[in-house]
Amino acid sequence: MRDENCIFCKIANGEIPSRTIYEDDDFRIILDLNPATRGHALILSKNHYKNLYDMDDDMVSKVLPLAKKMVHHMQEKLKCDGFNLIQNNNEIAGQTVFHFHMHLIPRYKDDNQSFVMSPGNPEIIKDEDIDKVRDMLNS
Ligand code: AMP
Ligand code: ZN
Repeated sequence: MRDENCIFCKIANGEIPSRTIYEDDDFRIILDLNPATRGHALILSKNHYKNLYDMDDDMVSKVLPLAKKMVHHMQEKLKCDGFNLIQNNNEIAGQTVFHFHMHLIPRYKDDNQSFVMSPGNPEIIKDEDIDKVRDMLNS
């Protein structure tokens, strides 16, 4: 389950060097090359999956426990004040490398970073439409 043209396949499987901070049979965790904050890390699957919904359920079920374990470790070592876990799927959502990864981004009181969502515009997304979406998703 590798894609010969995928850089994260090569990194996850050790063919390209990386700043690895954790490795097991299924995942490698590396430090991001362009960190959003100090300690910004990426969980990479060793198998090639385009994104979260391309992934086997068995693998999916291992990601959050691993993220939690790593967040505890990073919190203790880096003394950060919080974390953002970000996982982008498809270009429209900001994915630039099309191999599953989850960002572990430590946050610090003075890091000048922001991942805050802008609220929806009520002129565009009307209350009736929220009802409609609920009905669509419940049908
Ligand atoms: P995304 O926008 O969610 O696809 O995130 C891709 C992330 O991968 C970005 O934060 C990049 O800085 C990071 N990245 C790309 N190439 C490398 C690399 N060779 N080593 C480490 N991080 C990388
Ligand atoms: Zn890949």
